[in-house]
Amino acid sequence: MKRIRIKLIILMATFTSSALAAPRILFEVSFKEPQAHYAEIKMEISGLRKDYIDIKMPVWTPGSYLVREYSRHVESLEACDEAGERMPVKKISKNTWRITAGKKDQVIVNYRIYGFEVSVRTNFIDDAHAFLSPAATFMYVDGLLDHPAEVTIVPYRTWSKISTGLEPVAGKPNTFHAPDFDILFDSPIEVGNQDIFTFEAAGVHHEIAMVGGGNYDKERLKSDCAAIVEEATRIFGVNPNKRYVFIVHNYQSGGGGLEHLNSTVLGASRNGYQNERSYVGFLGLVAHEYFHLWHVKRLRPIELGPFDYDAENYTTALWIMEGFTAYYDNLILRRCGFLSENAYLQALAGDVNTVENRAGNRIQPVALASFDAWIKYYRPDENSANTSVSYYNKGALLAMMLDLKILAATQGQKRLDDVLKAAYEEFYVKKQRGFEEHELQALIEDIAGVSVADIFRAAHTVEPLDYNQYLNAVGYELVDHNRGHELPDFGVSTSVSDGRIVVTGVNRGSGAWDGGINVKDELIAINGERLDNGGRELNRILQTAAVGDKLDVLVARDGKLRELSITLNRDTKGAFSIIPLQHATAEQESLGRIWLSR
Ligand SMILES: [Zn+2]
Repeated sequence: MKRIRIKLIILMATFTSSALAAPRILFEVSFKEPQAHYAEIKMEISGLRKDYIDIKMPVWTPGSYLVREYSRHVESLEACDEAGERMPVKKISKNTWRITAGKKDQVIVNYRIYGFEVSVRTNFIDDAHAFLSPAATFMYVDGLLDHPAEVTIVPYRTWSKISTGLEPVAGKPNTFHAPDFDILFDSPIEVGNQDIFTFEAAGVHHEIAMVGGGNYDKERLKSDCAAIVEEATRIFGVNPNKRYVFIVHNYQSGGGGLEHLNSTVLGASRNGYQNERSYVGFLGLVAHEYFHLWHVKRLRPIELGPFDYDAENYTTALWIMEGFTAYYDNLILRRCGFLSENAYLQALAGDVNTVENRAGNRIQPVALASFDAWIKYYRPDENSANTSVSYYNKGALLAMMLDLKILAATQGQKRLDDVLKAAYEEFYVKKQRGFEEHELQALIEDIAGVSVADIFRAAHTVEPLDYNQYLNAVGYELVDHNRGHELPDFGVSTSVSDGRIVVTGVNRGSGAWDGGINVKDELIAINGERLDNGGRELNRILQTAAVGDKLDVLVARDGKLRELSITLNRDTKGAFSIIPLQHATAEQESLGRIWLSR
């Protein structure tokens, strides 16, 4: 991708320098009514001299696999020349505006965007600050994605700071340069009065921009983030950035993150920094998004770049991209000493619980979960647990299996770290393209000296995973504390609102599933006993019930009463933990130490 694009730019420069000035695209972002959540965008396109120009807004942003229709927040789009003479504008698709430019040298487009959605991938503007998600803010000229752009920010009068991974333009205040639109769309911008502090790690200058306040300890955060940076860099052997920006949005209750080439946006809970569990969770998010600067932003599957900003970009490899990253975020915390060995093992066991206790794991292969992220993972509904699996949790477990298999096959000489380092070198540095899944598998087999077809096959099927085959080799085992117990399962999840117990989910294969309980049913009585407001009566009945018991359940459905007969099936859910293997050999113990050592 990179090589082809460089050639195109050189060609264009040679061609245009003799005829006309190289086309220029400049943006200016200002804020007249931030309190009403608006930003004003001025886009100046010069040097094109076309009959007409199509400008487009992306429908999605890389890293977040959902068509978000950013153009729905665009309004009052107008175009004119430098003298202010209006040019006709016609909308020709949901996200395309055709401007009749009449071969004029300069086209000035003005539009407004509305932003009031709190997330790491949508615009949010209010009187305190503006977060600009670039794919939701900047339009591109159709066919000129390879083109550079310049962005000038005019902060609202009470704001004084700008944080972004874009390069500042020397001599032009508040102005930034993007070498192409892929980089522009990959560079979020925070404008306001954020608390900015910096640290150096792995030879890279890092900025943390804290938005929204919070009870964080700056010095602790700087040293803990630096430790994460050093550990992540050690895996790949090289840190490709000179500068990296963390934009942290602190809310009453926040989370989630989005990765970029030389920056990230993180959501956090404003007052969670002094709570150890919540703080370690935040560090896990830092490790996750930072790891992505190599794994997905540079080392990537062939389908994820160059991007089509007009439609879904399908890949079956998110179990590798998000799953491996989810495996390494906790492993990096373990290596930094933020997680004890046992805490780390139980976090992994948590992934097993999530995957194995979800009925969808037996329906949807994880590679298909990746392909269908656009219509399933990012669009969950009441049946999602029955029909889909997370490529984060299951991908992390497949990564664990690969890591342990390589460790065992090489007597601890190699592991998944070595695969990632070699893959980065092979595909990002040398070949300068994404990898095909079979190429990655071949590279792993080359390093491991054994086949890993079993693990890759498991990603494309719903066959059960034999965790202990891999864990035993390094002296650990997965145990199910529910094994041997005959526990009854009613099979519903509920919420209590206005004193009513309402069904929010029905588990596939449970008594409720077989007996026809529906989501949205209100549970009123069981075996003639009225269920009390808090659901305590329901719990009491279920705790004293046994497998095979029949329950007469009175429900209200759409305003009508109905009595259903439910037979309690055996609960198939497990309660998993990972513990040291009894009577492990010295070799197994030694491999386990390599796996979990700091
Ligand atoms: Zn991720």
